[in-house]
Amino acid sequence: MNLEKMTIKEISALLQSKKITSLELTNFFLTRINKLDSKLLTCISVFEVEARQEAQKADIRISQGESGDLLGIPYLLKDNILVQGLKTTSASKMLENYIAPYDATVVKKLKSVGAVLLGKTNLDEFAHGASTENSAFFTTKNPWDLERVPGGSSGGSASAVSAGLCVFALGSDTGGSIRQPASFCGVSGLKPSYGRVSRYGLMAMTSSTDVIGPLTKSVEDGATVLKIISGQDEFDLTTSSFEVCDYLKNIDKNIKGLKIGVVQEFLKEGLEDGVRDGILSAISVFKKMGAKIIDVSLPSNKYSVPAYYIITPSELSSNLARLDGIRYGHSLKLNPKGKSVENLNEIYLKNRGEGFGAEAKRRIMLGTFALSSGYYDAYYKKAMAVKEKIKQEFKKVFSKVDVILTPTSPHTAFKIGSQINDPLKMYLEDIFLTGPSLAGLPAISIPAGFSKKMPFGLQIIANKFKEDLLLNVSYNFQKETDWHKKTPNL
Ligand code: GLN
Repeated sequence: MNLEKMTIKEISALLQSKKITSLELTNFFLTRINKLDSKLLTCISVFEVEARQEAQKADIRISQGESGDLLGIPYLLKDNILVQGLKTTSASKMLENYIAPYDATVVKKLKSVGAVLLGKTNLDEFAHGASTENSAFFTTKNPWDLERVPGGSSGGSASAVSAGLCVFALGSDTGGSIRQPASFCGVSGLKPSYGRVSRYGLMAMTSSTDVIGPLTKSVEDGATVLKIISGQDEFDLTTSSFEVCDYLKNIDKNIKGLKIGVVQEFLKEGLEDGVRDGILSAISVFKKMGAKIIDVSLPSNKYSVPAYYIITPSELSSNLARLDGIRYGHSLKLNPKGKSVENLNEIYLKNRGEGFGAEAKRRIMLGTFALSSGYYDAYYKKAMAVKEKIKQEFKKVFSKVDVILTPTSPHTAFKIGSQINDPLKMYLEDIFLTGPSLAGLPAISIPAGFSKKMPFGLQIIANKFKEDLLLNVSYNFQKETDWHKKTPNL
């Protein structure tokens, strides 16, 4: 039994037929984490005692005849999502010792169906980044090549799923942070529509685009997790009352006649050759299944990264204001350096100066500037107008096609350290990802091939709340291909 390679569906069948217990399974993954995580560095914390307790509870429920897709299934959680009584750091020195006072809604939901939390995964500090190199603690490694980044910001979650350290993981996606690491690590990563999954208990980055979603070994598993974590929540008023459907119900419907839009300009410049070839062969897989391929264009997409990098810093500069060492976060009082402070301003400067890493500081300064009097119209207001234009362009395209297909990233995972001193280059990583985020659309990255031995994904984007269609199209692709079944040698 290769438990590390198995999907939720396969493992759940083993649990239900009593071929394995949740405790055995949990021990298996804890041992695997112990063995492999010293080289992969995916986890910030591992909760051995609590995980075993939860597994035992799940075993009792199973022995009492209860069944459930996630009952007894071990998972990992990105460390910007709160779990009551446990450390949640957002990979920041600022919150190194922060104990969450309540459960995020997604955690509450997963607890109630009996999923077993193994630990919390690494990320770029406060989810700012595309490589996990911005973590205040360590850089996670890509299991396909330990010298390369796993992507980010949900790099810990993606690397862990790819390496089989858990059955599934949750990440968060504000401008690509589930999809890009999924692509770099060869797993399936789903960013739901904005408002589909509650943000309550997710540390806010960009409140207008943040969304939690699953990283899994198959699209089917993504559907299983989404069904459980979705829904309206009184604690997050941006969640939608739009009905949560059974995403598994029509997942295998054939896609004959489905109209797939391919953004021609995305396949031209700046794409790694191997990635382009892979996307073109994915297109022929869809053609073979009877889908109609239609050329479409998203001319304003080139402005999505600039607009995103105004809107994101603006919102996060305000969201992070509470981390001043007085209300929350790293404080001089806890870490006396033997220096006295003269006044309140100095306390703020010292606490925030020591607590935040370079990228968070850069974004706080950018955002504060963009929102400041006299500049607001030129930057923030303009960026919001671009966001609206991008939304309208998607709307127009979706009047002609059912889904849109693009590469997830222009290339495969890059070498650790190779881009960290070039923030603009790092921001351009998000070129195919920020558009759907600004428009609030659901999008998924699924494995589509290898270029120079590294995996890459293709992105499928659907209209708002059309997760069922998105999963249906992606499922059909995985039925025809086996890229998602490839695993790294560790
Ligand atoms: N790379 C993007 C950024 O750095 C994505 C972040 C995210 O989705 N959390 O902002």
